[in-house]
Parts: sequence; structure tokens; C-alpha cells
Amino acid sequence: MNPAVDSPALRRELAEVNERFEHAAPSDIIRWTLEQFGSWTVACSFEDLALVHLVRAQDADAEVIFLDTEAHFDETLEFVARTEEEWGLRLRRTTPVEGAEEWPCGTAQCCTFRKVRPLAAALDGRQAWLTSLKRVDSPSRAHASVVSWDETFGLVKVNPLVTWSDDDVAYYLSANDIPEHPLWARGYTSIGCAPVTLPPASAHDRRSGRWAGSGKMECGLHQA
Ligand code: SF4
Repeated sequence: MNPAVDSPALRRELAEVNERFEHAAPSDIIRWTLEQFGSWTVACSFEDLALVHLVRAQDADAEVIFLDTEAHFDETLEFVARTEEEWGLRLRRTTPVEGAEEWPCGTAQCCTFRKVRPLAAALDGRQAWLTSLKRVDSPSRAHASVVSWDETFGLVKVNPLVTWSDDDVAYYLSANDIPEHPLWARGYTSIGCAPVTLPPASAHDRRSGRWAGSGKMECGLHQA
């Protein structure tokens, strides 16, 4: 596979991979990613550590990105710092790009300056990135695939946990004695920036507490 550029051949290959991996275990998908691309990057929200744990079982030195928007809950910052130290994570923190102060929380371009552009810079030169996106996250992610060409960042995107349910995640965390984000105990099921994150409004939509009341569903990282 040549993931350097988008092409019909690459799309065909990715379609075949999706068919092959629709019912595969995340560890098999991660192994395939490592064999195919060698260099990769994991970017996740740190609302749960399942993906980081699974990746580190195969590549203890994997780079893990934390997008510091400078608007996170204190609990998130403490959780990330504690995990970094206790797990010896090779953590890369991004910070908002220049101009972010002109786009306060909730305005149209805030996520662009605090998440999308910093991640684009962090992924520069990579062939693939892994995310913890799941179909159960929200209706807008219900048809997400295992692998896809990521138009936003220009590389292959791999979602090893895409078919997992919330119970699958909970079971994995419990079976492996993995610490949970402290806000889970307070009812949060998807955790973003503090000014715009509430516990979910609907039990059927775990991301319904994100940008509550604004109609916004995604920050621009995922075109699921
Ligand atoms: S979630 Fe809110 S504060 Fe965080 S980057 Fe997006 S708009 Fe800004």
C-alpha cells in the first residue's frame, strides 16, 4: 500500500481492508497498521485509555498526542499527567496555534485553532494515525469505517475500536485494571473542553453533552 497520496487504487485497497477487518479484534487492526505504515501516531481524547493501552501492547514507544486546547477540565489535565508519568508515555502535547485568542470558546473557528491545525502540524510527515472513534459515539459516527483516507489531514486514518460498544470499552478497562477518567464517575460520557461539556442529554447519544445546545456535533477532527 502506498499511502502517500490519495488515489483510486488506495481507495480500493482501503475498501478491501475494511471488509477484512469489519469483525476483527482491535489488536489485529493495530498490528496491520504497524506492519503497513511503520511510523504512526495515536491521537485520542483521553476520555478512556483503551486504545493507548492496546497500542502500547505492540509498540511501547508509540507517540501519543494530547491536544491541549487550554480549555480542558483540571481533571483531564491531571489524568493525562498522571498517565504520562505512571505509564511512561511518549506524550506529545500540542498547544493552540497563533490567533486562537481571537476565537474564544464556542465561536466558529475556536476548534480550528485549538485542535485541527495543531493536529495537522503534529501529523505532518506521518502515513497513518489511529483514533479511538467508535460508531456508538453518536449518530453522526454510526457509519464510520475501520480505515479511510482522511481528507482533512491527508493520510490514512485507522479506527481500531470503531465496532466496539460502551460495554466492550468498560469490560476492557476493567479486565486490564486501567484507570478511568475521573469525570466518568460524575456522569460524563464524552469529555471535551470544560466550557462546553456537560453530562449527556440523552442516554442514547453519549456525545450529546458536547457543545450542548449549539447544534455542533464535531470539532473538525473527524469527518466520520
Ligand atoms: S470545544 Fe470549545 S473551547 Fe474547545 S476548542 Fe472547540 S470551541 Fe474551543
